[in-house]
Amino acid sequence: MLRQPTTQCCNRKYIGANLTDGMYQGIYGSSKKHDADLDQVIKRAFQSGLDKIIITAGTHNETIQALELCSKYENLYTTCGYHPTRCSEFNESNENEILNQIFELYEKNSEKIVAIGEFGLDYERTQFCNIEQQKRYFEFQLKHLISLNKPLFLHNRAASQDLYDILYKYRDQITKGGVIHSFDGTLDEALQFIQLGYFIGLNGCSMKTQTNLDVIKQLPLDKILVETDAPWCGIKPSHTSYSHIKTQFTSETVKKEKWASGKMVKDRNEPCTIIQICEVIHSIRGNQESFEDLCEKIYFNTKQLFFSNQ
Ligand SMILES: [Zn+2]
Repeated sequence: MLRQPTTQCCNRKYIGANLTDGMYQGIYGSSKKHDADLDQVIKRAFQSGLDKIIITAGTHNETIQALELCSKYENLYTTCGYHPTRCSEFNESNENEILNQIFELYEKNSEKIVAIGEFGLDYERTQFCNIEQQKRYFEFQLKHLISLNKPLFLHNRAASQDLYDILYKYRDQITKGGVIHSFDGTLDEALQFIQLGYFIGLNGCSMKTQTNLDVIKQLPLDKILVETDAPWCGIKPSHTSYSHIKTQFTSETVKKEKWASGKMVKDRNEPCTIIQICEVIHSIRGNQESFEDLCEKIYFNTKQLFFSNQ
C-alpha cells in the first residue's frame, strides 16, 4: 500500500501529528461517527514509509495520553507544554504546581519527550485565552523549561513580533533552537526566525494561497521541516497547493458516515499524507533537486533538530 517509487522518499522522520485527537476515536465534535481507528492510522503511516512521528501535545494530560501511545509504538515521540489556547489553565496559585508536573513527567520519560511545547502565541483564537495571559504563560513556560535543554515546538498565529521578541529575550539560554510549526507568515518573518536559529515547519495550512507558496519558494531548504498537523491542515482542492500534488488518496477515502475498516476519512488528515507536503515544496521550487534529494535534506533537518543523539 502506497509504496510507489515516489513515496519511498518519505521514509523519514517528521514533526507534528495530533494523534490524541478524538477524531481517531471516531468522535467528531461531540458525536460518535465510527469505530476508533487510531491503530489503523498509525499502521498506514508506517506502511507508507514514515519511520518516526512526533505527537504534538498541548496540555499535561495530552502528554500523558501521547506517552501511552508511545509505549505501544516504538517509533512515536511527543512533547510537553501548554498550547496558547490552553493557557487559561494556569493561574498564580497553580503555576508552579503545573510546572512541577511537567518536570516530573519529563524526568520519567525523557527518551520519548523530544521537544518542549506545543507552546507559543495565538492571536486568532483569543476567546480561549486572552493575549496577556498567553504572553505571560508562554514566557513563564519558556523561562523555566529551557533548562530541559530540548528544542522548542512553537505555535504562532498572527503573533510573529511578540513571539520573536520573547524568543529573542531568552536567546542566550535557548541552546537547541526549535521550529515555528504550521508557518503561514511573511518571508521577512520567516527569515527573522531563521536568523534567530529556528526551523520553519510547513503543512497544508502553510500552503493555501499563492502568497504562501511564494514565501515557501524562497525559504532555504536547510531550514524547512515538514508536518501534517493531522487531523487538521490537510491539503484541499480549494488550496493553491492542490495542483502541485502527485499522490492522491481519494480512492482510499470515504466520508466519516460511511467509515469502513481500513479506509481513510474525508477531511480528516492523517500522517501518511506527508508525502503531499514534500511534493508541493518540490514542485514550487521548480524541481531544483531530485525529489529524493529534497526529502533527504528535510530528513536531515528533522534529525538534526530532534534526534541528533540517535
Ligand atoms: Zn499549532
